[in-house]
Amino acid sequence: KVNRLFHPEDTVISVGDRKIGGDTFAVIAGPCSVESETQIVGIAEAVKKSGAAFLRGGAFKPRSSPYSFQGLREDGLELLKIARTKTGLPIVSELMSTEYLERFVEDVDIIQIGARNMQNFELLKEVGKIQKPVILKRGLSSTIEELLLAAEYILAHGNENVIFCERGIRTFENYTRNTLDLTAVPVIKKLSHLPVIVDPSHAAGLWWLVEPMAKAAMVVGADGVMIEVHNDPANAKCDGQQSIKPEKFQALMDSLRQLAVIQ
Ligand code: PEP
Ligand code: MN
Repeated sequence: KVNRLFHPEDTVISVGDRKIGGDTFAVIAGPCSVESETQIVGIAEAVKKSGAAFLRGGAFKPRSSPYSFQGLREDGLELLKIARTKTGLPIVSELMSTEYLERFVEDVDIIQIGARNMQNFELLKEVGKIQKPVILKRGLSSTIEELLLAAEYILAHGNENVIFCERGIRTFENYTRNTLDLTAVPVIKKLSHLPVIVDPSHAAGLWWLVEPMAKAAMVVGADGVMIEVHNDPANAKCDGQQSIKPEKFQALMDSLRQLAVIQ
């Protein structure tokens, strides 16, 4: 079902009046995690002003250490909804467990399945049974074929609204947090009709690499980018070193607009 052979035209996924795929370039921006109402509303207003089409914000965080900030959980979803009401931006947030599936169907506009859960097959089957768009992030050490097969689980269970996300993979290189596999974009687009976006923030792990890699993603044909933006990166509860400030995000959007039209 994911295969382009049986579906030659590009799939365009609609989220309210916005689209991901086809001729549009979708920019999703926001903090790694939702921290407070002022934080999420402030960032949402700033990224909207710069031209983002969607707001991201983690409520449930998949942290490497159990002692790190785990997210505001359900309270985080409530704050995202406040930000959506104030800005009109549809919201993207990560679902880690089927336990909260109904809540996510109710509250968010796009469900994110994180890299660490790309092969959580029971979770994939359950998001396959709903119709909400899903951003499926590539696993830390997953091949493109494994990513396509993970999406196949979702489509096979009935949900065809899947967006792939290349977010970097583990290699021997350790200057950057991960290695952004830009070749995955044209490869996935050749093999599948589904949209592909790029997350340069998690790929690079360093804020100053986000803009050049976002531009590169656009040039290789990505259908959008997902960017971490924080008002105070030095004090962010998660991923501050790869987060850009709203002013930098504005500059990034200006440079993307020199390359192409953005939704
Ligand atoms: C995220 O988007 O905040 C995240 C945890 O990403 P990934 O699953 O790609 O590590
Ligand atoms: Mn993050």
